[in-house]
Amino acid sequence: MSELAAPLRRLIREHGPISVARFMALALAHPTKGYYPRRDPLGAAGDFVTAPEVSQLFGELIGLALVQHWLDIGRPPRVLLAELGPGRGTLMADALRAARVVPDFLAAASIHLVETSPRLRERQAAALPGLPVHWHDELAGIPEDAPLLLVANEFLDALPIRQFVRHGGGWRERLIGIDEASAFRFTLAPRTTPFPEIAAEGADSLPEGTLLELGPAREALAEALAGRLAAQGGMALLIDYGSDAPFMIGDTFQAVRRHLKVDPLEAPGEADLSAHVDFRAVARRAVAAGAVAYGPVSQGDFLRRLGIELRLQRLLERATPEQRTALASGCARLIDPLQMGELFKALALTSPAAPVPPGFTLQEKRQL
Ligand code: SAH
Repeated sequence: MSELAAPLRRLIREHGPISVARFMALALAHPTKGYYPRRDPLGAAGDFVTAPEVSQLFGELIGLALVQHWLDIGRPPRVLLAELGPGRGTLMADALRAARVVPDFLAAASIHLVETSPRLRERQAAALPGLPVHWHDELAGIPEDAPLLLVANEFLDALPIRQFVRHGGGWRERLIGIDEASAFRFTLAPRTTPFPEIAAEGADSLPEGTLLELGPAREALAEALAGRLAAQGGMALLIDYGSDAPFMIGDTFQAVRRHLKVDPLEAPGEADLSAHVDFRAVARRAVAAGAVAYGPVSQGDFLRRLGIELRLQRLLERATPEQRTALASGCARLIDPLQMGELFKALALTSPAAPVPPGFTLQEKRQL
């Protein structure tokens, strides 16, 4: 069933148990046997549904927020409009449609998509017909010579995490090995890993058995984004599910297949793997690297502040009865605290010189 299982087992037999991060990276991104490179995972017929696929309102409001920020920073004549992990390209298509109200913005913007999956690049090209789109394998490929307006929805959650368990007064990494029946199993590293940084923040007083998650790849991305924003100007909007607590305590490593949660070790490469985003760690790293961070605020609050209810009313006026039902339920799904409104959060990073971005308040500016 899982083409990746045999090579992963071999790797573990030869080198010993591997970190959750290594497992996650291989399962999601292995070029020929990984999850993302081989399929379009989105939509009712796929494995999961994201906010831009739930409602056009999501991408439209984000597009308008980016346009507003462009106006607020003095309408630079060139701007890089970028997205990390654009999926089917729906968010960018909806954002650009909404941005037509400011033709000067469209004339100034060049479009940059960071996507590793060839299958999804095709979907993105089909969603953005006739537009000059530049694809990149990673953030580093995006030019550095103009302000950056970037959005990433459900991208950070796919970046690999490491897990550590408090054990005998130290932190031991949670690894993935294989049992006698060759099934993948969690195990603990034989030795502890020293963490001066988290020790300084009090993590060492957490009780025995506590599981802590760290997202080094997410923090590295935050640092790279912050460096660019400080040098190039602009804003990055990071939207994902996660928390703003002092530490990521508890196991959030999860697998989703055909809209159901499954065992993350069961079929590497066949299920989507993700983990909750530690927004506090991302914001802290970005601020340390020279950006200003706002939030995170809940997705419900963020979209309401951007005017989702008013925009829904406008669309309802012109809609057929069936469209009305779909529009209203899509909007509710995005903002209802019991659906996506509370678990999903938006964090904004800006250059130090930029004004408060749309959807955030000055009170939500973070200190180190
Ligand atoms: N933002 C989209 C899709 C989310 S799924 C939406 O909201 O619908 C995650 C996306 O990130 C996919 O497009 C996937 O191919 C891409 N992706 C995941 N890990 C990546 C990585 N390390 N580098 C580049 N793209 C990645």
